Amino acid sequence: MNKELEEILQNYRTLFRKQIERIIVLIMEEEKEYLALNLPIDLNLQENLDITKRGEGKETAIEFSQDRNRYEHKVRANVSQEIEEYLKSRPKNLFFNKKDQNADNCVNELFHIISIITHEMRHAYQNELTKIRKDLVNVDALLWLKEQLAVTQDLISQNEKLMFREQDACKYMYRRALEYIEKYTNIKSSNTEVYNNIVSQVEEQERIISPIEEIMWITPEGEKRAVDYLNKIFAERANTIPEEIFKDSILRYEYNMDRTKKNLKQLLQDKKIMIDNLNKMDPNYANQIMQINNLYETIITRDINLQEKKVVPPAKEVVEKAPEKIEEKQQEPEKEIKKEKKVLIRESHEKDYFDYESGKNIKEIKEIFERKSGKYYIDTEIISKEKNYSFHSVMHVSNIETGKAEEAEYSRDNLENETYIYKIDNQIEQKIIKSNNEIIIENYKDGNIVATYKYDNSGKAIVPMENINQLPANFIENTFRKLIPYN
Ligand SMILES: [Zn+2]
Repeated sequence: MNKELEEILQNYRTLFRKQIERIIVLIMEEEKEYLALNLPIDLNLQENLDITKRGEGKETAIEFSQDRNRYEHKVRANVSQEIEEYLKSRPKNLFFNKKDQNADNCVNELFHIISIITHEMRHAYQNELTKIRKDLVNVDALLWLKEQLAVTQDLISQNEKLMFREQDACKYMYRRALEYIEKYTNIKSSNTEVYNNIVSQVEEQERIISPIEEIMWITPEGEKRAVDYLNKIFAERANTIPEEIFKDSILRYEYNMDRTKKNLKQLLQDKKIMIDNLNKMDPNYANQIMQINNLYETIITRDINLQEKKVVPPAKEVVEKAPEKIEEKQQEPEKEIKKEKKVLIRESHEKDYFDYESGKNIKEIKEIFERKSGKYYIDTEIISKEKNYSFHSVMHVSNIETGKAEEAEYSRDNLENETYIYKIDNQIEQKIIKSNNEIIIENYKDGNIVATYKYDNSGKAIVPMENINQLPANFIENTFRKLIPYN
């Protein structure tokens, strides 16, 4: 919550030009944080932009600033016309009747100005993902980059709003602008009619945006599915694109360094290496596996050439890794005593196999940690089939220090429902269940429920537990992992 933005927007009916310009700057700052952008932003609200150009006076690019000696997002947005519209529509009389419906219509213009800014900031996000990031945090970025490298000006003018970058920015801008209106004004409760009108505009805009796989482009070869056509022209032009781009950008997920496209086997191998390299001690381990699976599944399903080959299932294979035994190395003598308290032995056995009959990939991991408090056994099973994915993990320890047997179980199904159960001496102590868009936490004593807390799907408290109004991300999985003495 930005205090300054809140204060200005509370008076959304009576703003002056300077205040609107300030709103734009503050929203940009909030967007920069929300979209996790790294580069600084240089905003230019100049009025004499050449509006005959594409984008009608609004454009966003990463450029090098000689003055400041740095790369930055140059956001040029001429919103003078929209500001004029706002000034015309706001109530003439400052002592307007609060029940006057027309008085609130000016929030519409404000919504429009904010959506222009969120649109441009989404382009800044796209530019960062394709131009400076090497990790693939959003699989759509592959399409954005290919579009930028291979599409001709002709194709753009034929399809304008149907280009992937434009579709993504349009899908983002209205919903996000609505969020600002909801967060910083009271219009939702004070004037339902005007508020509902904005909501229906957002819904209408979202309705006209097709899923990526269904977008069609007018091409020199006739009307084609945009994803297929882009893949085709990009592969044809790959040889004209500098090799460094294949090496240093997110393209390396899909292409080899010699500018040839990776085949299905290579992609699945890459996926396996990424998953194997994950740190099992990371509290978001299960989440990361899911993200990698989704990433590669999307890359594969968006390429018809890979799809045809995928129909033939791979032969049943069993890969068994030799058990690895890691004993803590103690390099610095002064740390020895401290380390003794920590992990003594860690063993990990992994088994990966493809079940031919069910078409499922199954990964089993058995881990053993020995600590002063006892031996911890953790059995994990991860089952994936295309985009469906489930995770199940059980931990046992006979705690020498407390003399009690502890057991914890964590599972997540392919609909992202989650369950966590913690038992001591076979008696349930805590249960956390996430389903039907809510999270319920139950604490037990002697087998009976003694407390129940409730949160919504996003972790916001309905019935809060000890003043915790917002649960941290991956709360349920982390609750399970905290019990395991990884370090
Ligand atoms: Zn745009």
